[in-house]
Parts: sequence; C-alpha cells; structure tokens
Amino acid sequence: TSHDLAIEAIDLHKRYGSTTAVAGISLGVHRGEVFGILGTNGAGKTTTVEMIAGLRRPDAGQVRVLGLDPAVDRGEVRQVLGVQLQSSALHGSLTVTELVGLYSSLYPRPVPTGELIKQVGLTEQATTRFEKLSGGQQQRLSIALALVGRPRVVILDELTTGLDPRARREMWRTIENLRAGGVTVLLVSHAMEEVEALCDRVALFVAGQVEALDTPQGLTDRAGVSSLDEAFV
Ligand code: ATP
Repeated sequence: TSHDLAIEAIDLHKRYGSTTAVAGISLGVHRGEVFGILGTNGAGKTTTVEMIAGLRRPDAGQVRVLGLDPAVDRGEVRQVLGVQLQSSALHGSLTVTELVGLYSSLYPRPVPTGELIKQVGLTEQATTRFEKLSGGQQQRLSIALALVGRPRVVILDELTTGLDPRARREMWRTIENLRAGGVTVLLVSHAMEEVEALCDRVALFVAGQVEALDTPQGLTDRAGVSSLDEAFV
C-alpha cells in the first residue's frame, strides 16, 4: 500500500516550451530503500527529482513524500527531506564550517557540524572558503548540507560525478550508512556500477518515461549481459 512508500510519483508530466522533459513518470520508493534513477542525458532524471523535491511544479501528476505534498506542505517536507543542492547556489565567501553551521540552524536536531564535515571527508577544508574548494569538495559539501537535518528521505543528483575514486568510495560508504540508519535514498546516476553497488531497485529513464524498473540484477538479466554497463552504454 502507499503507506509503505517514502516517495510516490504519479504520472508526472513536464514540458519546457516545445521540449517534453517528463512524459508520464510514475514511481514508488519504499521506506528504507535505496532507489536509483538511471538514464542518458536529457532523459528527464533531474526534472523528475526536482518535481519530487518540490523545486519544480509538474504540469500534471502528483507527488507524495512520506505522505506529504512538497508543493503544499513545504515546511514539513523540508524537515524530513534532504536534497543535494546545486553548489552554485552557495555563498562563495563562507567557509565549510560556516555553511554547515548556517544550514544546521534551520533544523531542531542537526548533525554536529564537525561530525558531518568528517563524514564527507572535508575536515582538512573546514576553514576553507567555499569558492576555494575543488569541484569534488564542493560536491561533498552539498551532500553534507543535504544530510545536516537528519532527513528521513534523501535525494541525491549525480552523487559522485567529478569525484576521484577514493572520494567516490567514501560517498558510497555514506550511502550505506544512511541505509543502515533506515533512511530512504533516491539517487540519480549516470554510473552503472554505482547503481549496481548501492541500489535495491533501479528505474531506467528513456525520453521522459520509465523504460524498465527492476533490481540491478533483474535489469542485467533481462538484457542478457553481465553488467548494466554492457547493457546500457
Ligand atoms: P542530464 O543527465 O543531462 O542531467 P536529465 O536526465 O537529468 O539529463 P533533464 O535535465 O531533466 O534530464 O532534462 C530533460 C529535457 O528537458 C532535456 O531535453 C533538457 O534539455 C530539457 N530541459 C531541462 N531543463 C530545462 C530548462 N530549465 N529549460 C528548458 N529545457 C530544459
């Protein structure tokens, strides 16, 4: 039943002018699940998660996050949902510690700043200004900011793009820790091996629709190859 669902998207549609970005997407993400969205450039992944997060209004369709409508119950949704922000929206002259502290102040029970900075591997950059961080470090900071309020549901768009292999593995460990804590994770990815390593189920987006929805193994078996990389690249 829908009570088991942390995220429910029902028949979402979105156009930008003459471009149809999302053409009837429906998804149900179970509580505690790590759910992947996989697809090529322009398949509608980002538009879909923006609608789920309440950052973009669908032309048609409905979204529920833990039973709440992100477009209506904004304050309540903000307390339970963590969204990895576009780092360009962050103030460049603030340090890592200052930014995490600023976001902490929005929540009643934030993760302690130092602990969070350590979790995403930025302890050495704690007093570095945002504008001086590398792309990968900025990305890790944006993930820290998504986690600061101890969300029950987390949306991460391109979690590890631009990270070096070590940082990438650390980020994967962070996801495993979230899963162990019962957090629901919706993960957009280009990286097949990432989805195979982390996700319980995966939706494959093609041209604004769900082409397939299965376990990573199920998708692979269906395609009759040994990995998703072979199947879809
Ligand atoms: P990527 O992997 O490149 O981020 P995606 O699967 O996330 O792609 P979207 O970013 O949702 O896909 O884009 C879906 C379609 O909508 C694309 O054709 C894209 O060019 C178009 N689009 C996305 N955002 C806008 C916008 N703000 N204005 C106009 N068109 C847009």
